[in-house]
Amino acid sequence: MTDHTVAIIVVAAGSSTRFGKDKLSVQISGHSVLERAVASVRAAFPDAPAVLVVRADQVDAAQNHWQPLGVRVVAGGAHRQDSVKRGFAALEPADDTVILVHDAARPFVPVADVLRVAAAAAESGAALLAAPVVDTVKRLRSDGSVETTVPRERLARALTPQAFRAGVLRRAWEAVGEGIWSDEAALVERLGGTVMAVTGDPRNVKVTHPEDLETVSGVFPSRVRVGQGVDVHPFAPGRPLWLCGVELPGETGLAGHSDADVALHAVTDAVLGACGAGDIGEHFPPSDERWRNAPSGVFVRRALELAAERGWRVAGCDLTLVAEAPRIAPHRQAMRARLAELLGLPVEQVSLKATTCEGMGFIGRGEGVVALSVVTLEPA
Ligand code: MG
Repeated sequence: MTDHTVAIIVVAAGSSTRFGKDKLSVQISGHSVLERAVASVRAAFPDAPAVLVVRADQVDAAQNHWQPLGVRVVAGGAHRQDSVKRGFAALEPADDTVILVHDAARPFVPVADVLRVAAAAAESGAALLAAPVVDTVKRLRSDGSVETTVPRERLARALTPQAFRAGVLRRAWEAVGEGIWSDEAALVERLGGTVMAVTGDPRNVKVTHPEDLETVSGVFPSRVRVGQGVDVHPFAPGRPLWLCGVELPGETGLAGHSDADVALHAVTDAVLGACGAGDIGEHFPPSDERWRNAPSGVFVRRALELAAERGWRVAGCDLTLVAEAPRIAPHRQAMRARLAELLGLPVEQVSLKATTCEGMGFIGRGEGVVALSVVTLEPA
């Protein structure tokens, strides 16, 4: 492989009218399409200078996000080709630098493909990733009928990144002057230059329609973490009963340093367990006077913060209470709604169940309440 320095341009200045909303911000397994597009190219050349070209009205917001990550942000132009030129100008590359031009709407490109297209451009001056056409291809008449079957053996779908020695691009732009071209490879072709096609992974799709997301989502493993929490509190006559952040009037309360909300303690431990952040006793020791009679929603919220610091957000919660009393049914909807509110989830993603111990053991004798919770986290 020829030695070559590399610089990266990711073009994100287009509108997404065919998608219906900002397709670049759509999340795939915890990262936006744009984040994945930039990361997938940079993974091949982590130290290469990188420029992201966005719409002029998005420069400030994009800068806040990308500059700390080492990506420069510049404003794009009216057409894709103008945006590429502006990204190129910001890089000020030497003529022998290999420039990778990647579509921001392509969230998946394997590292090996990026390396091979860069190497091909270093050798020949210009290269692109291309996927073989596997379907039979027909040319149609304007009335929709088939005119002919087109031999597909020498057809390929152009993917990105495309790669060019900077000098090749410079000379092409100078030679053509004004004009419209579909991509920079087409420009080099028009001028009689050689553009090598490097076979790329066909899953490198450009997210154009919502259904394209389903195709490309399958490439990224969905990550889920599961945690369980268990807590037990004995009854303590004279105290109010709090369960799921709701006070159940007229019922015997539970003993404990805080408000003794056994349900929220189990949920807190499940969140902490799912993100590997210890347990409730470690973060809120009973010896700490701050937590005397504290509402236990504080513990849930802090656990969610600790999860967020580790890159996780809660996706679901299942909670089971085991007790002979009180009857949960009259309060179930209020408790479930409050738990959903504390977790920041739609109520459908939160479940609350209750059972008894059929008179057996300490629960059966009515000495206390057991809470069991399972929480799932997904990438934030
Ligand atoms: Mg407890």
